[in-house]
Amino acid sequence: MRWGLIGASRIASSFMIDAIRAVSDGEITSVLSSDADRGAHFAGENEIPQAFTDLSDMLESAEMDAVYISTTNEKHHAQALAAIAAGKHVLCEKPLAMSLTDAVEMVEAAKAKGVVFATNHHLRNAGSHIAIRDLIATGRIGDVLSARVFHAVHLPEHLQGWRINDAAAGGGVIPDITVHDADTIRFHLDEDPVSVVAKAGSSGMGEGVEDSVMSVWSMPSGTMVQSHESFTHGFTGTGIEFHGTKGSIFASNVMTQMPVGVIRLQDASGSHEISFSTHNLYERSLGLFNKAVAGDGRPSADGVDGIKSLAVALAVRDAALSGREVQVNYEGY
Ligand code: NDP
Repeated sequence: MRWGLIGASRIASSFMIDAIRAVSDGEITSVLSSDADRGAHFAGENEIPQAFTDLSDMLESAEMDAVYISTTNEKHHAQALAAIAAGKHVLCEKPLAMSLTDAVEMVEAAKAKGVVFATNHHLRNAGSHIAIRDLIATGRIGDVLSARVFHAVHLPEHLQGWRINDAAAGGGVIPDITVHDADTIRFHLDEDPVSVVAKAGSSGMGEGVEDSVMSVWSMPSGTMVQSHESFTHGFTGTGIEFHGTKGSIFASNVMTQMPVGVIRLQDASGSHEISFSTHNLYERSLGLFNKAVAGDGRPSADGVDGIKSLAVALAVRDAALSGREVQVNYEGY
């Protein structure tokens, strides 16, 4: 599987390059950067043979089966459409796009071209989340009454930049983290939020974009979901809880890129620690992507999953800005 990287990003250098190379003889042939020096430096540091500053050049002259898009969010749409038109399979970072219309266009273009399109939602690949989903699906906590997501973190200085001050690049905690939580809740509960209420604001970091948000989501089954995302909380831990008619799941330190955390199931028979696999999240995602390209199964999170997580995030932002309850618009998906 030969890959072109669209974006000389930190997520690529920190996680994805190693993961691509660890899976199925993955090879990275090229990288695109808007800056020739940064691209050349990135290629040298990461042992990537070719660096480009023009996407058309890269798609025409570098050998690749798939692209991984990890530029800032406002660029995903045009870059994905160009890669799809060139017949490349696409693994795109979240949020897929700045608007739902753009995300739908990307997913429909891939469908029409017959290429695989996936969204890089890593959390549903974690052994912890797979174990939680199994507990819920096998009825261990009965009917799910409520869920609570704790995803307030302290955004490290090196990741701040556009995330905290550039709305045009897709900054803000809602496109950054609420999308992941929307995907994770959908993964666990197998249903899509219907409507949301929310409050958002800046608590010391966001400049023109929100750095903190709390929201409540109504699910079709009646399950209530409470979600908290922030960039400014230095001393909290992350977690997710599900409370049902027969038991509760308490998972701590699981809203993370690393295969870590602790899961406890509390039910009438007591408190039980739940074991789970500690495989690499991104390698699992890439393994499923490669299989989908070979015609075997589907990616971990496909394009429609990316549309839906974006739809929830946009509804949360709309609800926070308007102060009203907002129905989530999935554009018919
Ligand atoms: P970065 O800020 O590291 O990179 C984004 C872009 O910024 C790059 O494409 C690059 O442009 C430019 N850039 C990188 N370094 C510099 C620099 N030193 N000076 C100026 N510009 C620079 O972003 P992230 O890696 O944090 O995020 C990229 C995407 O990945 C986003 O869509 C984000 O939401 C997503 N993401 C997903 C995660 C996941 O686990 N699924 C985790 C983290 C991010 P160019 O390519 O033109 O050189």
